[in-house]
Amino acid sequence: MRYAQLYVPTRREDPADAEVVSHKLLVRGGYMRMLARGIYSFLPLGWRVLQKIERIIREEMNRAGAQEVLLPSVQPAELWEESGRWSFYGPELLRFKDRKGAAFCYGPTHEEVITDLVRGDVRSYKQLPLNLYQIQAKFRDEIRPRAGLMRGREFIMKDGYSFDVSTEAAHASYEQMRQAYCRTFDRLGLRYRAVEADTGNIGGSLSHEFQVLAHSGEDWVTSCPSCGYAANRELTEVPSSGAPVSAGAEQAASASVETPGQRTVEEVTAFLKVSAQGLVKTVIFCDEADAPFAVLVRGDHEVNEVKVKNLLGGQAVRLARDEEVERLTGAPVGFAGPVGLACPIYADQAVGSILGFVVGGNAKDVHLTGVCHGRDFAVTRWADLRQVEEGDACPRCGATLEFYRGIEVGHIFYLGTKYSKALGASFLDESGASRAMEMGCYGMGVTRIMAAAIEQNHDDDGIVWPVPIAPFEVSLLTIGKVDDALVEAGQALHDGLVERGVEVLWDDREERPAVKFKDTDLVGVPLRLTLGARGLKEGKVEAKWRWSKDVEMIDLASAPEVIAAMILKARS
Ligand code: ATP
Ligand code: MG
Repeated sequence: MRYAQLYVPTRREDPADAEVVSHKLLVRGGYMRMLARGIYSFLPLGWRVLQKIERIIREEMNRAGAQEVLLPSVQPAELWEESGRWSFYGPELLRFKDRKGAAFCYGPTHEEVITDLVRGDVRSYKQLPLNLYQIQAKFRDEIRPRAGLMRGREFIMKDGYSFDVSTEAAHASYEQMRQAYCRTFDRLGLRYRAVEADTGNIGGSLSHEFQVLAHSGEDWVTSCPSCGYAANRELTEVPSSGAPVSAGAEQAASASVETPGQRTVEEVTAFLKVSAQGLVKTVIFCDEADAPFAVLVRGDHEVNEVKVKNLLGGQAVRLARDEEVERLTGAPVGFAGPVGLACPIYADQAVGSILGFVVGGNAKDVHLTGVCHGRDFAVTRWADLRQVEEGDACPRCGATLEFYRGIEVGHIFYLGTKYSKALGASFLDESGASRAMEMGCYGMGVTRIMAAAIEQNHDDDGIVWPVPIAPFEVSLLTIGKVDDALVEAGQALHDGLVERGVEVLWDDREERPAVKFKDTDLVGVPLRLTLGARGLKEGKVEAKWRWSKDVEMIDLASAPEVIAAMILKARS
């Protein structure tokens, strides 16, 4: 492909609203353009990358036994009413009416449509298992579309769904998909972690997120370098710290101290000259019924809301508002404490191993010192309720956990019979009894993968594509005075590489070398070949990988074979 014929309108300026590097580089590199907030057009380079990503996904899905289908984007409201999600989904669902007034939505996901499809034709256990997937544009009217492709409103997703006769069989399908996801991300050339993820109120441990590691990621993940345990930070367990210790006779009684205006952990510990480990924070929450409860964590720890939510059976919890805190404690915010508090008290296990600590006194400008759990107040329930911190140990093997920022590019989920029961997708088992199908769902963000690959692989000059998803593998720059000899040599090298299956972008423009170097770096083509008058005379072409500073001189005569072999090796 000749650069001059390719539609690649590069720009010098970053888009005004760009927050992240992938957004800037995709626009500047001529990969995509914004049509409306969170809605993008893909130009030839962008579409080439997306097609490469899709191809790898398809190959791995097919290999794992999944079959590709294509479902409609426009979906009737009745189907969503059957599943109960028409009212539940909220304003993220783009709804509209047809000319007769019938309600529809643009699909943000396809559990309803696929379940409807399968219930119409699958009658017997003999037709199962079934695993169907598609690659298609989804629409979610996100509150804050941001960061270009990272959180768009229209975006491309691979979504897949499995149907099985039993829980065991569904778990096997899930495991097959987990492995297919790992193979896919390996082949895409990305550094990632498959982490245990929150299953919400479905429960169980069968949900994994696939997180591409990048500083700009929205998520925190933990991973154990020793045993391979990996989880979303909000789910990472803290190893048990044993049974709570109890206060004995030697323990001094608690005392009330004046702490005028001292509210935060920093203020109180500095004022009383105690360490944060000697203080216990009391955080007031409200449950779904607006009933308040308290969560206790050590002063140097943070409450983990997901753990609090899961302790209460998955119900929605929220921080209490100031007036609710004041009503419960009888004191302004900043002085809450467990002694004499009339609500359930859930304490993090780490609080169990300390005695004689500082807490709020439930009165303005008052704290209590020397407080002991069990003696001075009762704990309703002990649990792991704190956020893991750097330096914490792996809950499985005890090694020190590593922390990473991640971008969620895939999420797989064991669904059970949630949708099959709601929509009546059942089959007759071997004994002739009717049973609901066991389902799993498997999402992968195709456009988000493109952005995540750039977040992970770029430098000051532009994109540094992993070879498997680069729009072209080689950029050939012919530089200097354009004459017949140069054009002929360029053409021969270009054709020799193309014949060997290498994707070459030949920059044959009459531009200064600096411009060509800048453009190829911005676009991010992995291998740069430079051919000029001097090299031609010496029979050499210069080769340089995008991520390396080193150049290599290659004999022109054997260049097609040598370079094709380099590319072949770099593809995997
Ligand atoms: P998130 O927590 O980021 O909103 P989600 O839990 O809503 O993601 P799923 O419904 O599991 O995501 O969708 C499957 C995949 O689709 C995600 O793992 C992600 O890669 C991608 N995806 C989801 N929402 C968006 C979006 N707004 N823009 C781009 N990709 C998205
Ligand atoms: Mg979402």
